Amino acid sequence: MKTVTVNLGERSYPIFIGQNLLGNPELIQPYVQGKQVMIVSNETVSPLYLEKILPAFQGLNIEAVILPDGEQYKTLDVLNQVFDGLLSEKFDRQATLVALGGGVVGDMTGFAAACYQRGVNFIQIPTTLLAQVDSSVGGKTGVNHALGKNMIGAFHQPQCVVIDTDTLNTLPDRELSAGFAEVIKYGLIDDIAFLQWLENNVTLLLKRDADALNYAIARSCQSKARIVSLDEKESGVRALLNLGHTFGHAIETSMGYGTYLHGEAIAIGMVLAARLSATMGWLSNEDVVRVARLIKRFQLPTTIPANMTPADMWQRMQVDKKVRDGKVRLVLMQKLGLSLLTDQYDPALLQKTLQVGQQ
Ligand code: NAD
Ligand code: MG
Repeated sequence: MKTVTVNLGERSYPIFIGQNLLGNPELIQPYVQGKQVMIVSNETVSPLYLEKILPAFQGLNIEAVILPDGEQYKTLDVLNQVFDGLLSEKFDRQATLVALGGGVVGDMTGFAAACYQRGVNFIQIPTTLLAQVDSSVGGKTGVNHALGKNMIGAFHQPQCVVIDTDTLNTLPDRELSAGFAEVIKYGLIDDIAFLQWLENNVTLLLKRDADALNYAIARSCQSKARIVSLDEKESGVRALLNLGHTFGHAIETSMGYGTYLHGEAIAIGMVLAARLSATMGWLSNEDVVRVARLIKRFQLPTTIPANMTPADMWQRMQVDKKVRDGKVRLVLMQKLGLSLLTDQYDPALLQKTLQVGQQ
C-alpha cells in the first residue's frame, strides 16, 4: 500500500492506495470520530462492495443510504434522501459519512457532510478510476442545478481517501478509459516523465494490471495533492487541473450530458489545447501527434463530434468560469509536459483550431 498526503495544515489527510483495503478496520477506523457511520452509495455499487466494506466499521452503528445511479440524480432533491436518513436515525455532529462509489456519490456525500449540522466528517472510498485520480481528492463537493453543473456546492475536505484498486475490476471499459483521460492530464500539466511512462504502459493499464494501475493512480494523486496543497480554493495554480476542460465542457453540454462521458470530452479538449498551442508556436506538430496518439491508444476520442459546429463550440466556450474581462482564459501547453493558464492566445487561431478540430 502507498500513502500520499494532502498537506492542508489542520485539514491534511492521507490517501491510501492499494489492493484489498476495503474491509480493513485498522486502516479506516482511526478516521471515524464517533460511533455513527452513514454509508452513502448507489444501486450499482452497493451490491458489489457494500458487504465488503462493512468489516472496516465493525463495532460501530452503521446505516446506509442507497441512491439511484446517474449524473441526473446529482441534485438537491435526491441529496435530501441522505439528510432524511441522518435525521431519522438521529445522527449527531460526531457522525461520519462514507462515500462508496464514483464521483457522483463522492461529490454528493461530501456536500451532505459539509451541510449536515454545519459540517461533519466524511471518508471517500472512490470506486471509479476518475474518482480515484481526481474527484475524491481536493475537497470540491456539490450537486447540479437545472441551470448549471456543480453550481451548488462547498469546499469540504475528507478525513481520508481509501483507494482499493481491486474495485476497478468491475468497472466498464468505457468508464475506465474515461478515467485515463484525467491521468494523461497530469502528465501534460507538468510531468513529462509520467507521460512517457504512460506511453510505455498503455497495454498493461488497459489490461488492468494491478501494479501498473497502482503506480498510475498514486502518481496522479501525488500531482493532485501537490496542486491542491498549493491552492486549495483555486485562486491560481489549481486552474491547471482544468486542462482540456473548457473545450470539453462545451462538448458535454452541446451533446447533452451522458452522450460523451466527462473523460471522453476532455480527451478531445486536450487534443484541441495541444493544437492551439502548436499554432501559437509552443508545441511542435510532432508533439500534437504524440498527444493525440496516446489519447487514442486509451480508446478515447480525439476529434470534435461531427454534428457540432465550430460556432456552437465557440459560443459555449464563452460561458466558462474562467472568463475574465471578456476573454476566456485557457489552459494551454507552453511545451509538452508544461501547461499554463493564459489569455495570451490569438482568438483567430482558436477559431481556426475549432474549424480543423473535427478531423
Ligand atoms: P459516476 O460516479 O457516475 O460513475 C460512473 C458509473 O460507474 C456509474 O454508473 C457508477 O454507478 C458505476 N460504478 C462506479 N464504481 C463502479 C465499480 N467499481 N464497478 C462497476 N461500476 C461502477 O461517474 P465518475 O466518472 O466516477 O464521476 C463523475 C462525477 O464526478 C461528475 O458528477 C463530476 O462532476 C464529478 N467530478 C468531481 C470532481 C471534484 O473535484 N469534486 C472532479 C471531477 C469530476
Ligand atoms: Mg475533470
